[in-house]
Amino acid sequence: MTARVLVVDDILANVKLLEAKLTAEYFDVLTARSGVEALEVVQRSMPDIILLDVMMPGMDGFEACERLKSNPITQHIPVVMVTALDQPQDRVKGLESGADDFLTKPVSDIALFSRVKSLVRLKMLTDELRSRAATSERMGLIDRNLQEAMARSPGRLMLVDDKQSSIDRFLGTLGDKHEVTVIQDPQAALFEAAEKEWELLIVSLNLQDYDGLRLCSQLRSLERTRHLPILIIIEPHDTARLLRGLDMGVNDYLMRPVDGNELLARVYTQLKRRRYTEQLRDNVAQSMEMAVTDALTGLYNRRYMETHLGTLIDQSASRGKTLALLVIDIDFFKAVNDSHGHDVGDQVLQEFAERIRSNVRSIDMACRLGGEEFVIVMPDTDMSLAFRIGERLRQIIASAPFVIDTIDMPLDITISVGVASLENAADTQEDILKRADQALYQAKRDGRNRVVVADAA
Ligand code: GH3
Ligand code: MG
Ligand code: MG
Repeated sequence: MTARVLVVDDILANVKLLEAKLTAEYFDVLTARSGVEALEVVQRSMPDIILLDVMMPGMDGFEACERLKSNPITQHIPVVMVTALDQPQDRVKGLESGADDFLTKPVSDIALFSRVKSLVRLKMLTDELRSRAATSERMGLIDRNLQEAMARSPGRLMLVDDKQSSIDRFLGTLGDKHEVTVIQDPQAALFEAAEKEWELLIVSLNLQDYDGLRLCSQLRSLERTRHLPILIIIEPHDTARLLRGLDMGVNDYLMRPVDGNELLARVYTQLKRRRYTEQLRDNVAQSMEMAVTDALTGLYNRRYMETHLGTLIDQSASRGKTLALLVIDIDFFKAVNDSHGHDVGDQVLQEFAERIRSNVRSIDMACRLGGEEFVIVMPDTDMSLAFRIGERLRQIIASAPFVIDTIDMPLDITISVGVASLENAADTQEDILKRADQALYQAKRDGRNRVVVADAA
């Protein structure tokens, strides 16, 4: 992962040290020696993450952080406060000014890289969502969802720990901000994790007679829990197990004795990340849905038909199976619009689509090509069966007038249908559609409200 890191410290030696470590890991490093300079660099070069010294003359780290977090252009950039170990009150102030995490001086390599990587990953997700939101028709909706994901709303947390004093401390810090369920037995924890919806698991690695890492690895191997964020709690200097944990995909860690504010910050970062990923997943599903369906009727759109009809034809031809399609056009639809308005026309199209949808098999592909023209592709269907299906659909439309709630009289709607089928292996999508179109044209000429079978090729 490569990312642009801004290191801010008034002491040159500190800047140089972090710069060297980060550069060695291929991060692109920017530096600043004061709060004011930091704000300038951020405006100019938009880093992916900022490591911010707290104690600086002039504008200190808190004030710089506050300004970054209150500016809409920069508020999504993660800020890590770099504090001295003996100043826990710094962390409270840091959280209040909007900091995303803390590093303690002297900064250890593991802490530095796990913090930076975890927050950069979160930033990438945010950026992805923001860019999708910027191009999406439903920008407003996505923006609102983003705001919700950002909000520090209570998370559903599971704490796996079996030492009462430790449990009490966790509950003391997290209890009034989150919904915390304590589970003492690691096997029960695995079961519960797969059973219910959680946003974060906090796992102690100092369980009696049990290696918490085993639970973590089981969680990572189960489909249901693979993406669940895990925060492990370790004893200081248990570097070996920490590295193994990070290796197997544990998302973050805290060392005992656990600092309350650091815990709150880590939990919040993981919740944010979780919520962003979920959002992203919904978003991807939504745009995929939007790309293949017609917004008015929910049927497949022309693009979808064009990409899939060819494949269906090839499959049918190579397996020696039949395939037929219906091209349907509503009769005198222009008159519906002209006498009742476009909105009524739209409602007729929706009702029409609903009748079609509920009267074809699930393997049939019902598409709206545009306007009041539709195609239904039916695999495993020969010409005579296709004709009977077309005839049935014609009756389903013609026999029950369309009831539209904004007009008094139900509307009599009829359709004309052209039927064509796959005739030989050389038949292309264009050939079949063309024959069906000619049959439809014939149906219109013959007086409409009828089904016509295409002439042989
Ligand atoms: P024919 O029996 O020959 O098919 O007559 P028609 O009036 O249905 O044929 P024509 O193709 O001339 O008119 C189709 C009309 O469909 C024209 C257009 O105003 C209307 N139309 C196309 N798309 C939409 C839509 O999305 N909503 C509504 N309400 N009307 C549409
Ligand atoms: Mg028409
Ligand atoms: Mg038409």
